[in-house]
Amino acid sequence: MSKNKSSESVKVVVRCRPLSRKEESNGPAGGIVQMDLRLGQVILKNPRAPPSEPQKTFTFDAVYDSSSKQRDLYDESVRPLIDSVLAGFNGTIFAYGQTGTGKTYTMQGLWLDPEKQGVIPNAFDHIFTHISRSQSDKQYLVRASYLEIYLEEIRDLLDPNHGNTRGLELRESPETGVYVQDLTSCVCKSIKEIEEVMNVGNQARAVGATDMNEHSSRSHALFLITVECSQPGPDGRKHIRVGRLNLVDLAGSERQAKTGVQGDRLKEAAKINLSLSALGNVISALADGRSSHVPYRDSKLTRLLQDSLGGNAKTVMVATLGPAPQHYDETLTTLRYANRAKNIQNQPRVNEDPKDALLREFQKEIARLRAQLNHRRFRSKQKKEQVDGEAWERDGDEEEEVEEEEVEKEAEEFVKLEEQRLEKENEAIREDQFLLAEEKQKLLGENEKMMGDLRKRQEATEQLTARYKAMESKLLVGGKNIIDHTNEQQKMLEMKRQEIAEQTRREREMQQQMLIQDEEAVELRETFTSLQQEVEAKTKKLKKLYAKLQCTKAEIKDVNDEHVRSRQELEQTQNELTRELKFKYLIIENFIPPEEKNKIMNRLMFDPEEDEWKFKPLVPDESKSSQMKKRPVSAVGYKRPISQYARVALSMGTHSRYRAENVMLLELDMTPPNTSALTDGEQNQSPTLNNFPTNDKGICKSRSWCQSQKSITSSSSNNSLFAALKTFN
Ligand code: ADP
Ligand code: MG
Repeated sequence: MSKNKSSESVKVVVRCRPLSRKEESNGPAGGIVQMDLRLGQVILKNPRAPPSEPQKTFTFDAVYDSSSKQRDLYDESVRPLIDSVLAGFNGTIFAYGQTGTGKTYTMQGLWLDPEKQGVIPNAFDHIFTHISRSQSDKQYLVRASYLEIYLEEIRDLLDPNHGNTRGLELRESPETGVYVQDLTSCVCKSIKEIEEVMNVGNQARAVGATDMNEHSSRSHALFLITVECSQPGPDGRKHIRVGRLNLVDLAGSERQAKTGVQGDRLKEAAKINLSLSALGNVISALADGRSSHVPYRDSKLTRLLQDSLGGNAKTVMVATLGPAPQHYDETLTTLRYANRAKNIQNQPRVNEDPKDALLREFQKEIARLRAQLNHRRFRSKQKKEQVDGEAWERDGDEEEEVEEEEVEKEAEEFVKLEEQRLEKENEAIREDQFLLAEEKQKLLGENEKMMGDLRKRQEATEQLTARYKAMESKLLVGGKNIIDHTNEQQKMLEMKRQEIAEQTRREREMQQQMLIQDEEAVELRETFTSLQQEVEAKTKKLKKLYAKLQCTKAEIKDVNDEHVRSRQELEQTQNELTRELKFKYLIIENFIPPEEKNKIMNRLMFDPEEDEWKFKPLVPDESKSSQMKKRPVSAVGYKRPISQYARVALSMGTHSRYRAENVMLLELDMTPPNTSALTDGEQNQSPTLNNFPTNDKGICKSRSWCQSQKSITSSSSNNSLFAALKTFN
């Protein structure tokens, strides 16, 4: 029950970009998308349909037309989500749509123009402003990561070597859900720093691609921000909440041409939209609500977004549309996709005190360094006071209470004084005429050593201080680290804007509710005074229902058409793949000896985690192999240890080396060519043998290395050779 209580649906908003100059010059047809901002409706006109065909209407949580501002979208649809992330929820925003419809514009926008900054820069601003304005008993740690999924491979965009290494792996833990192993994450202390992280990633993305446009329309980009916040609870202990924010710019949703390509290009084409079609399947399965299996594991993207779709997260989907008539089909598909996503139910909850909170570890490390530092400084201070001749009467417990700055200053003074003292002593020794040269040297050496020790200690303390300060600076303290320059008036303005956004949202919700209720309640309210009136009212209703029926029929036809289209495409891809398979099969069957093939087949296993076929290791276990390598205690009758080579040969099944080198069976065939029938015994053997007719008495013809061991045994002439081979094994 509690699960249902906390569940909420995925918020879906739709945005339509203005007609581009090129589209405008194409003709005066105008856009095919109309929007009712008050009701949150999109009305789509089919440019090819007769005027009598009803237009398609879709209702969403909010819609933004071509004149909408970035700020409006952020304040109304994204701000509440970021607030939730700051309160410890998981949050995801993803932009979905055809290439060129404004996904990147919505997510990133134009960085240099404050009016046109997208969701990501606005979120940075929001997060750090929130931290600076929060109470001073709160500590924050903000981390950022940036990755892209290209051809089903996860690439770390913050790792300078990402181009050279293999893709990263996905792992799952009960605490954090699905995560990317070894993903770089950077601690960010300010807006500037997090923007820098974003820039580095964007550059890596651009460098990795020969054609940026092509690349970006085929890869999914994920920017991940983790905000950890520690605050003392009513029990006096510090509690940590962790909010994770995924900002996702998906690949273009248009269909990629898959037909007529072969080999690598085919593989690429098959993988390009794999993630997107898997996402579609996941959305369908979740929206349906009846399917027990949700195919999250079908692609990397869906696994990464597992929590965001039907799990522990709040999710906003921004579907982007283009208004041009030539993209009607794609626009309709996007709208359908978005419409389905509305029905997904998530179960967001606050992530409280997770075991893997980095903030907790940072706090512990800072406390440890601080204690170490205090101890050092305290000892220096103690020594100074002893040198000064002050009586030392304090307890060890007082160590902690000494003022940090005062101790630091005194410790520095102590070092200076000690240096001066040793310098003076050196002078005195040098000038002392009663001392022998040897003694002088010895005393000077001792002093030098003391000085060296002193400097070393000083250096160690300085290093410790630097580490402590670096660690401490990573944590942001509410209301302290960032100076909030905004004045009261501006703050008020922001508040008002948020209020307005909130009101608009509520108003729209109410309007939508009213519309639904109106439709349901209209017949209840109607009382007819005359038969004529009743006829009129019913006719009106009939017309309405008829229009609805037509809409639904058209919808069914559209869905059927789409279904047929995608089936045809799948069949075509399947045909291509089958052809490819046959080709590979032909090579395997004709050019790889069956024995070798079997060996390989026996060693292969499928790794579902990495979605790949792998070879089983030849030598099973590391620990075992090291055990086997050890020579047993020498004793008569004990076996000799097996060498690595012999062990490999053992698991391969045969003596691969000799066979490959064809050393053992290279005897000359001295008998005249013989085309007589095979002997009975040999007829029963494997078909490969039939290619090598043998003579019962004589030496067999030179054999191919692919012959089985059995065949050698059957040949009497080779018995001695085989015996020799056996002893080798
Ligand atoms: P996508 O990432 O979906 O492929 P882009 O974000 O790159 O598309 O947008 C394509 C072009 O359209 C860009 O030049 C962008 O500036 C412009 N554009 C997109 N959306 C809008 C909008 N809402 N207002 C103005 N220009 C837009
Ligand atoms: Mg883009």
